[in-house]
Amino acid sequence: MAVDSLPAKARKISANIGAHYVDNARKLPWRSPPGSNLPDPYHVWLSEVMLQQTTVGAVKSYFEKFTRRWPRVQDLARADEADVMAAWAGLGYYARARNLSKCAMHITDELNGIFPRKESELLKLPGVGAYTAAAIAAIAFGERAVVVDANIERLVARLFAIDTPLPKGKAEIRAAMDAITPRHGAGDFAQACMDIGATICTAKYPKCNICPVRKQCAAFATGDMEGFPVKPPKKHKPVRRARFFWIEQQGQLLLTTRPPKGMLGGMRSLPDDEWAAGIDGHATPPIAGEWQVHGNIVQHSFTHFSLEVDLAVYQHEKIVTNSDDNIWWPLDDIAQAGLPTLYAKAVKWKLKEEK
Ligand code: SF4
Repeated sequence: MAVDSLPAKARKISANIGAHYVDNARKLPWRSPPGSNLPDPYHVWLSEVMLQQTTVGAVKSYFEKFTRRWPRVQDLARADEADVMAAWAGLGYYARARNLSKCAMHITDELNGIFPRKESELLKLPGVGAYTAAAIAAIAFGERAVVVDANIERLVARLFAIDTPLPKGKAEIRAAMDAITPRHGAGDFAQACMDIGATICTAKYPKCNICPVRKQCAAFATGDMEGFPVKPPKKHKPVRRARFFWIEQQGQLLLTTRPPKGMLGGMRSLPDDEWAAGIDGHATPPIAGEWQVHGNIVQHSFTHFSLEVDLAVYQHEKIVTNSDDNIWWPLDDIAQAGLPTLYAKAVKWKLKEEK
């Protein structure tokens, strides 16, 4: 990055992105239109937590469901954690939902239901990391905070052709974002950058022909836009195995509530062979009987490994179980059980197979 020329280039980029946002801002349920009143911090916080690792398209309906059911942070704080987890089902990365409840309680009980305004104070909230604190401070409170999400990271790496591979290159990208973030309207500016990253400066086939900062873009000048940001070499993802148990009697399916700690903690799921403990499951069924095993019916990708799932099926007129965590759930109403995606995929496979 040519540091000497940064101020002039930065000013131009900042102005072009700001002007583009006025007419092209995406209309999203948690946003205020460009230049208008700052949005409700509860909405900004909720949407930013939901948007971590998740697309805008997937988040919209969840955001609307949550704010309809729990219109204020105090309502969310009083909600049963199991209900919050069930409402979150399908969004993935479930630790976020547990932190959501914790953070809502903290704000309600310790801070009289009022969100802190400063980035440094927001950072102390449960489940709020550097990105989320900066985004809430800028968008909900107008503080000049430097916001860098994955879309902005790509946009900025290209604008300045930052060729230090990630994650090392993050510091340079943040410094460049700092240089182009205006003193006023940092929230609108961050959202403008997010929009350009999501809709124009896309990972594949960026639409440089309609980009408002094409003339300032160093990657465009090199012709290798997709070469930025420079990714670290790919690591091989290990494949692990699990077995789920389908236990059915008279139109009802046996579900269990998972232990509060660990992967998918506190969620309802099919009983399984404890694959989540960090090793391959033991594949031993929870009750004796004649089981029918279907191999590799679901493949699911987690951040650090892929999981291949077998489904073992046991159907009987009368089944005796003795765990308090077990629930017989009507199969006709299984969509309401709030199963995590991985288990919902297995249920879908089984119901389809029966047709
Ligand atoms: Fe991205 Fe192309 Fe715009 Fe550069 S010109 S910022 S690569 S869309």
